[in-house]
Amino acid sequence: MKKQSQSKNGICYLIGAGPGDPGLLTVRGAKLLHDAEIVIYDYLCNPILLQQAPATAEKIYVGKAAGKHTLSQEEINQLLVKSTQDGKLVVRLKGGDPFLFGRGGEEAEALEDAGLKFEIVPGITSAIGGLAYAGIPVTHRASNAMLTIFTGHEDPAKKESKLDYDALATTPGTKVMLMGMERLEKICEELLAAGMEKKTPVALVRWASTPRQETLTGTLVTIAKLAQEKNFKAPALAVFGEVVSLREKLNWFETKPLFRKRIAVTRTREKASELVKTLRDLGADAYELPTIRIKPVTEKKDREAFVEALAQAHHYDWIVFTSPNGVAHFFEAFYKLHRDARELGNAKIAAIGPGTAQKIEEYRFGVDLIPPQFVAESLLKEFKKLGVENLKILLPRASGSREMLAVELENFGAIVDDVPVYETVGVTDDVAGGWKRFAEEGADLVTFTSGSTAQHFKNYLEKNSVVLPLTTTLASIGPVTSSVMKELGMKIGLEAKQHDIPGLVAAIVDHLENSPQRSRKNFEDRR
Ligand code: SAH
Repeated sequence: MKKQSQSKNGICYLIGAGPGDPGLLTVRGAKLLHDAEIVIYDYLCNPILLQQAPATAEKIYVGKAAGKHTLSQEEINQLLVKSTQDGKLVVRLKGGDPFLFGRGGEEAEALEDAGLKFEIVPGITSAIGGLAYAGIPVTHRASNAMLTIFTGHEDPAKKESKLDYDALATTPGTKVMLMGMERLEKICEELLAAGMEKKTPVALVRWASTPRQETLTGTLVTIAKLAQEKNFKAPALAVFGEVVSLREKLNWFETKPLFRKRIAVTRTREKASELVKTLRDLGADAYELPTIRIKPVTEKKDREAFVEALAQAHHYDWIVFTSPNGVAHFFEAFYKLHRDARELGNAKIAAIGPGTAQKIEEYRFGVDLIPPQFVAESLLKEFKKLGVENLKILLPRASGSREMLAVELENFGAIVDDVPVYETVGVTDDVAGGWKRFAEEGADLVTFTSGSTAQHFKNYLEKNSVVLPLTTTLASIGPVTSSVMKELGMKIGLEAKQHDIPGLVAAIVDHLENSPQRSRKNFEDRR
């Protein structure tokens, strides 16, 4: 009979994290990660995935790290057993698939032996999925109808290699080797000696499916020397077989426009993820540098002015929004005060650009005016054409932002209520480690989408003595942001022609697509 665990609720899920691309975690894996109380994770799991676990979940790293103590497999097993016995929902996150050379079998056995509940959530193995990102299908009807997966690094306790080189050399089809990069030369020699074709195409793929992916191709005779020359290190896969030549045609991932470009995105935490996601889809190694946080206005007189404007909303002829944040704070407060959308009366609505307009539409209001250029000057020109004399205009905006718009509208004869509805404050913490990365590795490019992100970026650098590398391009969304950057003494490397996120992304692609690869300081052993 099984031993009873201390708590019947404890359960451990052995989850495959996939080869690296965070999008390759299964739906079931993501759902369980979302509910995890403890996450025990490895070197090969993309740490980005941890953001999907609750902030309150304990996250325990048990992978190898240079110079640090590593848990033995026995200690990892004990940790899994102990955490599950404590009645916790434990997620054991493992690179690739947990049952392919991942020692997942041993961990499941330890849980079973302790009488504990466990489930397996398979993952996409690097042996197949990782190679797909290098444009290499593991089988092909025309050439390779079999697949052998083997490890080049066996249990170090074994005295002699159990690798059956004769069988490997004579079995038809594709062979994929996991681990064992440090033994590559010896393995190639043995395979040649056992009669494998000299000209067998071979590819090595490291950090597959991540923005750091690198691929090296050669033949059974040349690959070990090439790997040595290029200092090609683990973690890497080696694939032997005709299918390798298909890469010339099918190399879809490494040819993305921003592949391997490191881009630091300074925005509010809420907004950054959207731009980061777009850049990552284009192949960039994009990460967030949190610089500002948005919060409701705190000053009593500002709060009162805002409430007054909301109560009188139906009196305005125009409400002019100059940022998506302004829109969100306005409507959230509006619906706290009013139960009926018609309290907005017949006020017309203007948006400075499409991003702001989109936000307005999320609240089910149409937008009557977007200027051709997404800046205040262009908006003013439109109002001048329309004529605003004696019209009541509400400007819900960031506290401390430019008064120019209000002043000029008043010059045209409008009656303007210029009302701060939110504040931006600098962020000083570095929860996701973006600033640490920036200090260590820098970036090819940093994006700025407002004057306040530039201001707070500069403050952070100065306060923490972080040096901005000379080779880093600073990208501005438009002239208003650029002018603040200039005032701060920052050199503008590029300015978007269209002043919104898609415009900024297009300008970045244009600028970086054909730029040379810069040195990747500390890139090798970041984790
Ligand atoms: N269970 C994992 C394999 C664990 S063994 C899986 O299914 O993918 C660890 C080895 O896997 C590494 O030494 C390397 O050979 C390979 N590997 C895992 N992820 C990789 C990646 N993103 N790029 C290249 N090789 C990877």
